[in-house]
This record gives sequence, C-alpha cells and structure tokens, in this order.
Amino acid sequence: MSGIAGIFSGEKEHVSPIIYYGLYALQHRGEVSSGMAVNNNGYIDYVKDLGLVNDVISKETLMRMRGNIAIGHVRYAAHFEAKNKVNAQPLVIGYKRGALAIVLDGSIVNFMKIREAMEDQGSIFQTDLDTEVIAALIAKYHKDDLNDAIIKALSEVRGSYAMAVMTNDRMIAARDPHGIKPLSIGKLDGDYIVASESCAFDAVGGEFVRDVEPGEIVLIDKEGLKTLYSNPQKRSLCIFELVYLARPDSILDGKSVYMSRFEAGKRLYLEKPETVADIVIGAPDSGIVAAIGYAEASGIPYAEGMIKNRYIGRTFIEPSQELREQGVKIKLNPLKENIKGKRLVLVDDSIVRGTTIKRTVAMLKNAGAKEVHVRIASPPITHSCYLGVDTPSEENLISSRLSVDELAQEIGADSLYFISIEGLVSAAGEDNGFCKGCFTGIYPVEKE
Ligand code: SF4
Repeated sequence: MSGIAGIFSGEKEHVSPIIYYGLYALQHRGEVSSGMAVNNNGYIDYVKDLGLVNDVISKETLMRMRGNIAIGHVRYAAHFEAKNKVNAQPLVIGYKRGALAIVLDGSIVNFMKIREAMEDQGSIFQTDLDTEVIAALIAKYHKDDLNDAIIKALSEVRGSYAMAVMTNDRMIAARDPHGIKPLSIGKLDGDYIVASESCAFDAVGGEFVRDVEPGEIVLIDKEGLKTLYSNPQKRSLCIFELVYLARPDSILDGKSVYMSRFEAGKRLYLEKPETVADIVIGAPDSGIVAAIGYAEASGIPYAEGMIKNRYIGRTFIEPSQELREQGVKIKLNPLKENIKGKRLVLVDDSIVRGTTIKRTVAMLKNAGAKEVHVRIASPPITHSCYLGVDTPSEENLISSRLSVDELAQEIGADSLYFISIEGLVSAAGEDNGFCKGCFTGIYPVEKE
C-alpha cells in the first residue's frame, strides 16, 4: 500500500513544503520509499529514493524544488523486488505533449495483460509498477486532450487505485470505481489539496472538503476544481483501512477511523461479555483504541500493559532467534507493575501470521500475567489481498489453517475471540459498502 498527496496553487510559488508535511503525516502508509515532484514553469523537478520522507527529502532539496503544483508518494513493500529504488514514485515521464508525473496507491489487476500487449507493440517499461502502465496508456492517447487521455487510460484498467497526475498546468486525481482506496480533497488558503487520508490536511493547516467519490476523476487547475468524469460502481472501501491501515485521526468516506475502532472494541465485549478479568490492555498502536472501547463497554479498567519503542519502523531488522531467546525486547516491553498477577484482556486489531500475538502473549505471561484473554477487533483473516494491501499468501495466514480453538492453543492464550463480520461492519457505520475480501474471500474486483 501507499500514501499519496498533491496540491495545485494559483498563487503560491513554493508548494513543496506542504507536500513534504502532508507525506510526513502519511508516513504510516509506507516506509520503504518516498518521493515528490514539483512543476516549475513546465519543468518537472523530482526526488525519490528508498527511505522515509525525512531521509529522502532534505532541507536543501525542499528549498530547490520550487513550483506551484506538486505531488508526493510514500510506499510500503513487503517483497524484495518492490524494494528496488527504481520502483519509487512519483513516476515522471516525457511524452509527445510534454512531461507528466504520476503517483498511485493501489493495485491494477490487469496490468500485466496490458503491459504485455503494449510490449508486443514495442513499448519499453523501466519499472515493475502498474503505475507505469497507466502512464504509458496516457501517452498512447496523446492525440487526445490530456483530460480525455486519462479518462480513456483509466477505462482500460481494473483494480483498486487512488492516483494523482500532474502536468505543467493542472492536477488530476482519480479513485477506482468501487472506491476501494481512499482519497480525500482538502483546501488550504483557497488552494485544493488531495491526500489518501484527511490527517494530511490537518498536518498542513488545511481543511477537509470531501472525498473523491468512487469512479470520479477530478480536475484541479486555475479555474478551480471540477468533476471530469464519473463512473461509480458499488462502493467497497477497504474495511482494513478502518481496522488497521489508516490513522485514527482520519475520516474516510465520512467514517471516523477512531470511532470505528472504539465501537469495534465495544462490540467485541458485547458479543462475548462473560470474560472475567482485572484489566484491559491494547496492543500498541492499532489495538489501543479498540481496547479503550472494550474497557468502556465492560467496565473493566483500561491500563497500559506494554510500552512501544517509538523509533522503530516497519523496516526494522528483526532480532535473531538467539537474541530473542536472551529476552531482547526491542519493539515492545511489558509494564510489569500493571500486569503482574493480573487476569488480562489483550485487545489487538488483527491476527495475520500469528507470530506477533504469540510472542506478545508469551511476553505478558513471562512478565507475571496470570491469564491472557485475547480479543481481536476484526474477524479471522482467511484470504489474501490482491487489491493493494500486502498480506501474505493464504498458507501463511494462520486463520486459514487453524480453528479459533486451535489458534488459542497455538498462541498460548487462555481464551480467544474475534469480532464477527456483522459486528465490525456495524462498528464502521451502516454497510453502505466495504471490501471485506480478506475476511470473506469475496472481492469487488475479480483477479486476473
Ligand atoms: S481484500 Fe482486505 S485488505 Fe484487500 S482491499 Fe479488501 S478489505 Fe482491504
């Protein structure tokens, strides 16, 4: 998955710091590569590399990159080849009508088919990115106006996407017809900004205006903002955004991420209220809000059970087995004063491979917890995602192999309960459309 941001300014001549801080707020959506591109009177200057926003975009670069339109990107990648720096975005290309830069969060399921057909006709591709296929399709339709070229290019692709394209005089933002990926529009001093999550607007002092609707393509230029095209299909926002991916202070399709997690915690208790415990603790960070909700519904006091080292990102190299056996606790450390001799309810957002929760339960028991009752604020993940969230293959998803009772035993929990799909959906608001594919195996877009 990735995070994207973009701004078009009629007045400002130096918008890159705004994108920098916007990307900084979206860093949780991807820590493998970062980059931004700025339009400077028709010339596109850009910087991108592997690393965090802070590492890739220096103060000097930011000072150099002047211009009134900018887009940026942060990327998460689990696979080795995706960690190649050639796959960092924005993608900047030159084509018959000039230069354009493009950023994309998502996964185009038919991109290999399109790419192979274009390669047969002589096209050359430099990256493994599906983004490049969209750029190549836009270039292919160069005889049309850019707006029409983008509409035509997007009518050929299927999958999940939130994207922004920038040229010398406009920015175009688009969201896939099901709205699987989030994309919001904000305003800052009269200028329009777009971002994967509304927390990016707060970070730069802007305000949320509305979401880009599923299937909508918007044009932002010196005339303002207008809808260029609209092709909505059944709304299917990735429900995992609300469970884990998005920041709790974001609002996605009108839903507060914080409130969804809080409600999920409450429902988690109400679905299985008979548990007797002394305290409720949350697994940092994304289990905390649900744990607070669980505590409120149950009346069992919430307490901090573990302290997380704030300086470790997802790129952290895991300690060796030997170091682990020596009790090295680099990411999380139990707060013995709170948990010793207590019966705990441990709330987490999800279980993927099962390794982290197993380690956490063992760590809490070693620290003196009398019982650990694990409560998960999402249903069992039984299917892999091919729509832009890097989940492991099915055989590596522990819930696709083990029943809940077997899993409880495997992770060493005294009991284990997952919220129901209905519970999660009602916590997220009424079901006006979510993708729940990783819980149900039913996806809004078919695999190719
Ligand atoms: S399959 Fe799961 S992770 Fe993938 S888009 Fe759907 S809900 Fe999100």
